[in-house]
Amino acid sequence: MALDSSDAPGFGTLAIHGGQSPEPSTGAIMPPIFQTSTYVQPAIAEPLGGIYDYARVANPTREALERNLAALEGGAHGVAFASGLAAIESVLKTLSAGDHVVSEENTYGGTTRMFTRVLARLGIDFSFVDSRDPEAVAAAVRPETRLIHVETPTNPMMRLCDIGAVSEVARDAGALLMVDNTFASPYNQRPLELGADITVHSATKYLNGHSDIIGGALVVRDDALAEEIRFVRKSTGAVPGPMDAWLCLRGAKTLHVRMRQHNAAGLAVARHLEGHAKVDAVFYPGLPSHPQHDLAKRQMKGFTGMVSFDVGTLDRARAVVEHTRLFQLAESLGGVESLVSVPALMTHASVPKDLRERMGVTDGLVRLSVGIEEIDDLLADLDRALER
Ligand SMILES: *Cc1c(COP(=O)(O)O)cnc(C)c1O
Repeated sequence: MALDSSDAPGFGTLAIHGGQSPEPSTGAIMPPIFQTSTYVQPAIAEPLGGIYDYARVANPTREALERNLAALEGGAHGVAFASGLAAIESVLKTLSAGDHVVSEENTYGGTTRMFTRVLARLGIDFSFVDSRDPEAVAAAVRPETRLIHVETPTNPMMRLCDIGAVSEVARDAGALLMVDNTFASPYNQRPLELGADITVHSATKYLNGHSDIIGGALVVRDDALAEEIRFVRKSTGAVPGPMDAWLCLRGAKTLHVRMRQHNAAGLAVARHLEGHAKVDAVFYPGLPSHPQHDLAKRQMKGFTGMVSFDVGTLDRARAVVEHTRLFQLAESLGGVESLVSVPALMTHASVPKDLRERMGVTDGLVRLSVGIEEIDDLLADLDRALER
């Protein structure tokens, strides 16, 4: 029998066993990679298992991943996608022209681009707010509001949204609350338990954790909502391949071990940088200096490996990223190897400078994805680069 969250095991036990059972014909402990497009049916319109007729609709490797992620997020249904953006888009495609969405203004850039440049053209209306303030979210709600979308912590300023408070706003509005939980991972934060309806991930990041796939996933509790989202996925086609689903499941099995180390290293790096003479400011929810540190302690179990800091000018930021050796210059995050980036010139280059600065994304801001190398080596790498 596969374990699920109703057995109440600890998180690490669920990460390994949640939704998993040996493959019935051989006992293989890992699900095979069902690399097939179709399935032979014993009789007309009688697919095996009632569902295995075509691999866009059903694939057992993908289902093993989905059961695992549902267990990790404390939900009933996982739905896996070809990317994080495909997961978010599939939720938006349960809406219709004329519907309205309230979104955090500081979301992942690709999410904002999809909302403003693709979905707005199709007649969905968006309002962008600072969701650190639940009242700002409530003030943006209209009679046509069907969905509230937030991300917490945000990229790269590590702003937080009070999921419980915003879930009440959503309930009063008769809207669904979707939380992008990519930065926190379910090890650190479980939005469904705090009142969200949908938790969504770029599985590319911490869930997979090894920088070797692009993937997405969402988890919900409600059966009808899961069915609606699966219908959109089946009808529009943004499914992950079985090999990527398998790699993501393999990664998810060590999520707890990796996140413990990411959390420890992230906190150590943030503390170290806060005491460094060449650093003007550090943005990390685990530091008492973070303006929402109390909320962080309430809704998160750890504070991740994502750390941003300001060195004042673009030239200094450039000098830092050009002189680290362990922290490699790249976009993305959440893998075992440490990465560094300059958001103003990389992930946020397409955001107008005045808006960027209003969000705090100054030219001197450096973003780290702290990996799981030895902490002392990471601190020494940063010290060496900051001395340049
Ligand atoms: C990367 C990312 C996405 C997009 O996911 P893809 O897998 O790249 O499509 C969405 N949200 C957040 C917070 C991300 O970091």
